[in-house]
Amino acid sequence: MNINRRKFLAQTSIGLAAAPALASRAAEPGSATVQGERPLVVSTWPFGKVSNDAAMKILLAGGSILDAVEKGIWVTESDRGNSSVGLGGMPNAAGVVQLDACIMSGPGHRAGSVAAIEGIAHPISAARRVMEKTPHVMLVGEGARMFALEEGLESIENNTAERYKAWREKRAAEKASPKDSKKKNPGNHDTIALLVLGADGNIAGGCSTSGWGGKLPGRVGDSPIIGGGLYVDNEVGAAGATGLGENVMRYCGSFLVVELMRQGLTPEEACLEALRRIARQDPKGTGISVSFVALDKKGRYGAAGSAKGFTYSVTTPTSSRVLTGPGVGALDIGPIGGNRK
Ligand code: ASP
Repeated sequence: MNINRRKFLAQTSIGLAAAPALASRAAEPGSATVQGERPLVVSTWPFGKVSNDAAMKILLAGGSILDAVEKGIWVTESDRGNSSVGLGGMPNAAGVVQLDACIMSGPGHRAGSVAAIEGIAHPISAARRVMEKTPHVMLVGEGARMFALEEGLESIENNTAERYKAWREKRAAEKASPKDSKKKNPGNHDTIALLVLGADGNIAGGCSTSGWGGKLPGRVGDSPIIGGGLYVDNEVGAAGATGLGENVMRYCGSFLVVELMRQGLTPEEACLEALRRIARQDPKGTGISVSFVALDKKGRYGAAGSAKGFTYSVTTPTSSRVLTGPGVGALDIGPIGGNRK
């Protein structure tokens, strides 16, 4: 082992030991504007932090960036208490859980994706298999499920009669008292988008979600759409989205963030500028309910939301934290153009 590697390992083991203490701190504002540490893992929401930690562990043990993305996202997909990622996620309007996921590798500019897949424990693994074992980029519905089963991925009978009955009862209660149910469940959706910058400067990312709770059967959101919910460019950086997918897909949101970084913006500025561009054009203005996370090749990272208070997780070899990105203010979107009336 050479000196640098020994020093690196020593630093990182201290970092991992310190991580749980840092994790318990409240969300704090901030983003890196200077050259950052590598490896680096950035993901959406505080629930991404445990995924980041798992991904960092893999990277520090010498694992690949794709393993870090896949196994990191596994942690959140496995959490049955998470109602927006994995099989614990919110069912669609027919009471069926349909999941979306994608993965992208900077080296080779490769991508794989699955959409509206049912009964598969780890859609992120199905997406990776699509990328690595087929000539395709995206498989949907029953085709995606059959492929995942042929690949030997874990399947769980999730859409049972009991679950459907429980969902119907919940829906009936919500209809009877819509105000209460809105208060209890204001969002109804979230996504893990997880971005990895390896120690060698290579980049990868992945996304996984159960999408919009109560969506029409067959609805696909932005998360499995390359350039929508996720985009990786190994020369520049990566970006991922969370929020109302319909407001991301129409603007190629994550692609836009990466292209803005290519033009020289920092990750945080690129997220903000993409949100301004969308809000200027969209009839909903700053009510689009979209947030982005991003990192660049230099190890800088950032995030922003159409509303204040978007929280995201950032993990380096020496720390693992939940931060808060800035929001786009209504007065901050500049002159209104495009098709916004
Ligand atoms: N973007 C996801 C979707 O529209 C949901 C979310 O991230 O809130 O399916």
